[in-house]
Amino acid sequence: MSLQFHPSTLFRSAAATSALVLAGLTAAPGAAQDEGFPILFTNVHVFDGVSEERIENANVLVTGNLIIEVSTEPLAVANAQIIDGGGRTLMPGLIDSHVHLYATGLVQSFAGLQAAKWDQIGATAAENARDYLYDGYTTVRDTGGMGSGLRELIDSGIVDGPRIYASGAAIGPTSGHGDWRNPEQRTYNMGSDDVANTLNLSYIADGPDEIRKASRLNFAHGASFLKLMAGGGVSSELDPLWSVAYSTDEIEAAVEAASFFDTYVTVHAYTDETVSMALDAGVKSLEHAQMISEETVKRIADEGIFWALNVAGMDPALLDHPNFSMPTVKPKLEEYLTGSENVVSYIKKYKPKIVHNVDTVLSTIGFGRAHRDFEKYYFAELLGNHAFLVAATSTGGELAQLTGRRNPYPNKLGVIETGAYADILIVDGNPLEDLSVLGANPKWFDAAPRERGFDTIRLIMKDGQIYKNTLEN
Ligand SMILES: [Zn+2]
Repeated sequence: MSLQFHPSTLFRSAAATSALVLAGLTAAPGAAQDEGFPILFTNVHVFDGVSEERIENANVLVTGNLIIEVSTEPLAVANAQIIDGGGRTLMPGLIDSHVHLYATGLVQSFAGLQAAKWDQIGATAAENARDYLYDGYTTVRDTGGMGSGLRELIDSGIVDGPRIYASGAAIGPTSGHGDWRNPEQRTYNMGSDDVANTLNLSYIADGPDEIRKASRLNFAHGASFLKLMAGGGVSSELDPLWSVAYSTDEIEAAVEAASFFDTYVTVHAYTDETVSMALDAGVKSLEHAQMISEETVKRIADEGIFWALNVAGMDPALLDHPNFSMPTVKPKLEEYLTGSENVVSYIKKYKPKIVHNVDTVLSTIGFGRAHRDFEKYYFAELLGNHAFLVAATSTGGELAQLTGRRNPYPNKLGVIETGAYADILIVDGNPLEDLSVLGANPKWFDAAPRERGFDTIRLIMKDGQIYKNTLEN
């Protein structure tokens, strides 16, 4: 949708109260916004995605799909639909910077993924997209899965969902964290039967040339950036957590391929060794990376590297859970928990660019909700509510901008300011003081199942369209 802003329809009025009355309410609440038909939010306290304090008693004007003005002065707009926020908080829609829409909800294991049918995977991905949107997420970054197909359906209004930044297939080496084949597929080199590869969920590439090919295929599928499995993983069986997966020339091949498309590479990595190799090669974003030294945290902060730190994984209570008791996984988890003990203190000291990410994968949609709710709670517990909110809004939006000319959504995301996309939540209470209004929950594996969405999120707008509105006006 293009910007439908006509300066003549917007004016500031000294006699604003009467002008607001004159502006009138001319569309049904909850209706999608017509093009050129402004929406004026009044009586809201604005968390703008950055500041530690809300802008009290503000008004926010949306025209088309953009935020046109944020002001504590009364605004009056001809023909506007007025939505009275009732003194609630207006804030940017949430951004989860590491999701797997295609590997959540249907299958709970890599073997299950290999047995899944493509239409089941696609249908479940659409259901996941709806779940994120109605939980308040207006943007997600998919770090391993297909390409732009689902995004195109969402952007054209066929499926409800958040904006999607997709990496396409996660690129990893044989026996690495992206090698999701069953043992017999690997033994007999039945590459064409690898569902993950066939559907562009993961791509096994060894050597710079194969990585170039994988990168180009991802861009052909509509990827906005590239993801490399640069080091060992917790859930994969063949790669020790401490292992290095890609050599420098392999990472550099991906960085060059990404630069040719004006975008960046992110890496799955945990340790100092893999993170340092990746940064030396020109990587601009990190997934996980919790086992690094103080020196490397400082480097990440100094160089402005984006860091998708999933905090829930650092909860020591995981050791007691049966899901992680398998002999192949438990020692890796112990190694990871020990290795990540000090990272939060380093983050508090150097303040690198952290983005909120949940990394729900190989689980049910219901468990995905519990995982998201706990991630919000635990992040805030370790780093504070404001840090969580910034990570989940403006910093996520900054990372989105790193896709350069490859960016499917070139305006600003994750902020409430003039010119940014109108991706907006109105919530009860003040999330800077109480994150439970966004669903934060201290329970995780033991959380009671819940329905989609939260009563405390009263309004969800994405791209100027209202998807939910339970305000009484
Ligand atoms: Zn992941």
